[in-house]
Amino acid sequence: MAPPMSAGSFLSRLKAEGLTAVEVGDWEHHNRNHKGPWGPVHGVMIHHTVTSGSQRTVELCRDGYSGLPGPLCHGVITKDGRVHLVGYGRSNHAGLGDDDVLRAVIAEKALPPDNEANTDGNRHFYGFECENLGDGEDPWPEAQLDAIERAAAAVCRHHGWTARSVIGHLEWQPGKIDPRGFTMAAMRDRIHERLK
Ligand SMILES: [Zn+2]
Repeated sequence: MAPPMSAGSFLSRLKAEGLTAVEVGDWEHHNRNHKGPWGPVHGVMIHHTVTSGSQRTVELCRDGYSGLPGPLCHGVITKDGRVHLVGYGRSNHAGLGDDDVLRAVIAEKALPPDNEANTDGNRHFYGFECENLGDGEDPWPEAQLDAIERAAAAVCRHHGWTARSVIGHLEWQPGKIDPRGFTMAAMRDRIHERLK
């Protein structure tokens, strides 16, 4: 049962992990808190955007679109490895997912298959959207993978979590495929090494 860290701590933690953070507009106060609770937080969720072009990707994740208002995550990780902070608080990234998965994340145990969408994920997860078409062909530059590893580790380090607190959207919500192009198992291995 961890309360979310402050926006200032979030920024400090990312920088301390060696990341370049870009503050977009009034990100610290851009959120969906009027729609529901934010916290307690239990983990970090990784996504791909199905977009190309960093500027457009960042704008979309900040503003959202009709039917899904922004922010759509907390940080957008572009292909150059920068983390663009677009919102802080409750954000529209995780949707409904599987309560059994949430229990496994809290216990930091191996994940069960996600076969239910019965639990509010926007309340419980930090979210990073990563610029990629998600077609299995669009490359993931090492700078971007390195930034995903560092961003997730930064949050885990703050809360005292292990890499098992980091999941992909595809492990949370039935039907989701993101992120595609690397495996979450491999990414968790990297985060685990970093947290040693
Ligand atoms: Zn997603």
